[in-house]
Amino acid sequence: MKIIDLRPRGYCHGVVRALQMVKKVIQDESYPRPIHILGLIVHNKKITEAFTHFGVISLDDASKTRLELLDQITQGTVIMTAHGVSDQVVQKAITKGLTVVNATCRDVTKVHDAVKIHLNLGYEIVYIGHKNHPEPEGILGISSDITFLESALDAMNFIQKYPNKTLFVTNQTTLSRYDIDVVLNVLKMKCPDLLFDDDICDATTTRQKAVIEQEPVDLCIVVGDQLSSNSNKLAFVSVQERNILSYRVEGVSDINPEWFKSVESVSITSGASTPTKVTNEVIEYLKQFDYNKKETWEHVSSLTYLDILS
Ligand code: SF4
Repeated sequence: MKIIDLRPRGYCHGVVRALQMVKKVIQDESYPRPIHILGLIVHNKKITEAFTHFGVISLDDASKTRLELLDQITQGTVIMTAHGVSDQVVQKAITKGLTVVNATCRDVTKVHDAVKIHLNLGYEIVYIGHKNHPEPEGILGISSDITFLESALDAMNFIQKYPNKTLFVTNQTTLSRYDIDVVLNVLKMKCPDLLFDDDICDATTTRQKAVIEQEPVDLCIVVGDQLSSNSNKLAFVSVQERNILSYRVEGVSDINPEWFKSVESVSITSGASTPTKVTNEVIEYLKQFDYNKKETWEHVSSLTYLDILS
């Protein structure tokens, strides 16, 4: 079976920085204990488990906002995740006397800044994103005047009541071009002069481009957590843009050998929050795999917590 290791793949600069910040807080005892992360530092449960092993408490409850989660912390250090938070959340943490470490990615900060500037200029702000993701939560926390749209239907409903202000449109950093265009095209029907700030980040763009421009293969394996928006988008663009069947796996243990029955070529990529060693383990497994030899089917991860965080 031919195996194609797509590049670029894996960690982006925002994830690398966020992980380094958490490791620094763990190692540096001048940071007050306990250490909490407000949400999941990045969307990868292997990383969360590894940090838990080293004493870090990740507060993750999809039914609660970051502001509400802060109520569970009474002392110590709180780390804001790469997905970003509103100023309100940071201010509340400071008021509670917590030591704040902000790991917000600079690409997310750039969107926050653009939204604030255009709000002050009097624009109607529209933000395209996915519901129940922390990045939109941080943006929507800037002002209750921001309109969140996820689908063409949302956009249709919005333009019915569009109040004739000048529109500024931006987006979650990890979407695909398709996700944005289905909403943007509807908005442009009513507002052709809208101002659009394309904020798909470079890491997302280049990883998706590698999938879109790959040579023809029978199957594309994406290594990434089920909560990872950018990982899910890689599988999506493989099917949507190239008609190449794609499976997202969290690691080697998720692989179903039956997927490879008639497969002669497979490509591998991984999301921006996937540890390199997890992806490499998948690649090594596939290199030795032979559908006709059952003894090559068995897969058990041998990665330690230190491997995950290395
Ligand atoms: S995926 Fe993009 S926005 Fe998210 S942390 Fe990485 S570089 Fe930043």
